[in-house]
Amino acid sequence: MEWLIAANRNMYNHVRAFKELPYVDWKQTNNYSVGDKVYIYSAMPIQAIEFLVEVIKTDITVENVLDDKEYWSDIQEYENGRNNGKYVRFKLINYFEDDAITFSELHENGLEGNIQGARKLYSTDNSIKNWGNYIHKRLKNIDEKYIWKKNTQLDLDLEEKIASVNIDAEKNYHYNDKVNPKPIPIEGKGKKIYKRNKDIAINALGIAQFRCEIDDEHYTFLRRNTNIPYTEPHHLIPMAYQEEFNYSIDIEENIVSLCSNCHNEIHYGKDAEYLIVKLYNKRKNLLAKKKIVVSLEKLLSYYGL
Ligand SMILES: [Zn+2]
Ligand SMILES: [Zn+2]
Repeated sequence: MEWLIAANRNMYNHVRAFKELPYVDWKQTNNYSVGDKVYIYSAMPIQAIEFLVEVIKTDITVENVLDDKEYWSDIQEYENGRNNGKYVRFKLINYFEDDAITFSELHENGLEGNIQGARKLYSTDNSIKNWGNYIHKRLKNIDEKYIWKKNTQLDLDLEEKIASVNIDAEKNYHYNDKVNPKPIPIEGKGKKIYKRNKDIAINALGIAQFRCEIDDEHYTFLRRNTNIPYTEPHHLIPMAYQEEFNYSIDIEENIVSLCSNCHNEIHYGKDAEYLIVKLYNKRKNLLAKKKIVVSLEKLLSYYGL
């Protein structure tokens, strides 16, 4: 079965939640079955079908839902939701981004009224006028941009972009002496997933003075509405390997500031080894101070080298 439901971003930031969390638990207001596909229409101001998700679990009780309080802007709604009812677990299949189907497009193709409650997509009617078929046709050939945690690189990249608004250019960024305990993972589909702390990532960029740590002469553009050069935080020891360490690796010492080009090269480049070796030599003593010890061979193996 396929569904179309609406989401209100003014209440809950589902866009950020889908990008950052391993799955999203949603109030179960329909008769979903595992395997159902659900198109999510973002209400004002977006007014477009932006996401396709799959139902991976139903009838989840409130004690077992993922706590996503930080994504709620309406805390009263969040508290109300926690009082009762069952939840359904959505796994992201695709985020259509620029290819999202707008409300007017749906109307032109036969959808009547507003999108509020859930609607079932018809699958037997072949009429081109049928909006359900239109959705299928229109979205059929779009590449899956955000495939569910298929590899750790994608999983990292989803969380490594930071908007300028979170960054304080005036702050004095520096390392601290705290040894951070190993974080508690969220249980994903057969694997443990560790959340990253954005503030720590920003600190790491700040300590590097918002320069590329491969070469501080590397060109970077300025972040929107700021005079801060744009660099991206990269976890030298990938978060996917947190399990192998007894203390947190989501720490400033493990996060390097890279220009966009070096960041892509370290994940996808033929000569990535040279970058990793360089960063390893810069960071190994700092990491050891935080009780994170890793050999170069081991680190390279994490990158498939
Ligand atoms: Zn990275
Ligand atoms: Zn660079």
